[in-house]
Amino acid sequence: MNRVTIIGGGLAGSEAAWQLAERNCRVRLIDMKPHKFSPVHSRTDLAELVCSNSFRSNDRHSAIGLLKEEMRRCNSLIVKIADDTAVPAGKALAVDRDLFSEQITGSLEQHSLIEITREEIITIPPESSSYTIIATGPLTSEPLAESLADLTGRDRLAFYDAIAPIVYAESLDMEIIYSKSRYEDGPGDYLNCPMDKDTYLRFIEELAAAACVPLKSFEDVKYFEGCLPIEVIRSRGDDTLRFGPMKPVGLEDPKTGRTPYAVVQLRKENIQGTTSTATPLSAPRNFCGRPCSSSPDPTFSLPGNYQEWRDISNQLPWDYWLELTRPVSHQANLQSSPHRKQLSGL
Ligand SMILES: Cc1cc2nc3c(=O)[nH]c(=O)nc-3n(C[C@H](O)[C@H](O)[C@H](O)COP(=O)(O)OP(=O)(O)OC[C@H]3O[C@@H](n4cnc5c(N)ncnc54)[C@H](O)[C@@H]3O)c2cc1C
Repeated sequence: MNRVTIIGGGLAGSEAAWQLAERNCRVRLIDMKPHKFSPVHSRTDLAELVCSNSFRSNDRHSAIGLLKEEMRRCNSLIVKIADDTAVPAGKALAVDRDLFSEQITGSLEQHSLIEITREEIITIPPESSSYTIIATGPLTSEPLAESLADLTGRDRLAFYDAIAPIVYAESLDMEIIYSKSRYEDGPGDYLNCPMDKDTYLRFIEELAAAACVPLKSFEDVKYFEGCLPIEVIRSRGDDTLRFGPMKPVGLEDPKTGRTPYAVVQLRKENIQGTTSTATPLSAPRNFCGRPCSSSPDPTFSLPGNYQEWRDISNQLPWDYWLELTRPVSHQANLQSSPHRKQLSGL
């Protein structure tokens, strides 16, 4: 029986381990947690979601929905558990992140062909070792990232990513906030915090004045255009946010019948609905403190009186990506390297 070593028990490594084991292949799945955590990982479970709890559209008529359906038919562990731990999110597939990781870890631990080891791998295993899948993700630990850069022959590409804040449901004022999906395209799973013009202008003014997570002297600011921090979007113009992630179209306030000037949408984080993600507010700004208008902290006045924020937003992760100069086969093997190592997450 073949044996495969998988380094990294995130989403990619967990799915790979499951698929191989289900095909009667022995797997050794290695993750450095809990001995070492990346700047954004904090749970000991595998398949930890570090940012959004949404896997986006579940609609089979969209490419991403179709991909999920194909994965379902291929016995995907990730998609099965996502279905089992789904939280209401309109047409999107969003999950209770704690249950999701817990159940994936449980399924992998119970599989007779999967052995889970908790250890940091610091160099690419030698060629003589078993087949290896490297699935250490965008926050690969530094020594292994160095080793990978040596192997692939080029420096890493890197950019800053943003994390959305999570708010406690009990701190929301439902007199102001209303449930609705955009264009009524779903049962109204999102909570909408409406802003009138004055509130929005105050919001972007406070945003411009809020403290940033300090960068280290050697850090070069590069952002991923697909996931920009909120203050970078704001810096592109006063209206950019309200025509972008805070756009109000299709979200008329049922209490007034009017379309707000801008909206912050919240999506449930867990099945009980005790926490929600403020999806448009992804930011490396320093959100520490209590962001309500009476707070002396340099934070924002938002409608709905949010009182508590989980402090994952006080972080500015730095994602690594590899720029490959050596040819990679259609199976993502490094071809001209003595190593025939599988890369994942390309
Ligand atoms: C801050 C942030 C926000 C993101 N937001 C989104 C989003 O909203 N939507 C989205 O689709 N994607 C997002 N991503 C990308 C997201 O990380 C990936 O979609 C997904 O997690 C990648 O899965 P993965 O298995 O490749 O890596 P991960 O899920 O990161 O898993 C990698 C695993 O490898 C382990 N590991 C790392 N180095 C070593 C080592 N040397 N030895 C042993 N174990 C190691 C880690 O502990 C971790 O468990 C975000 C990433 C970050 C960092």
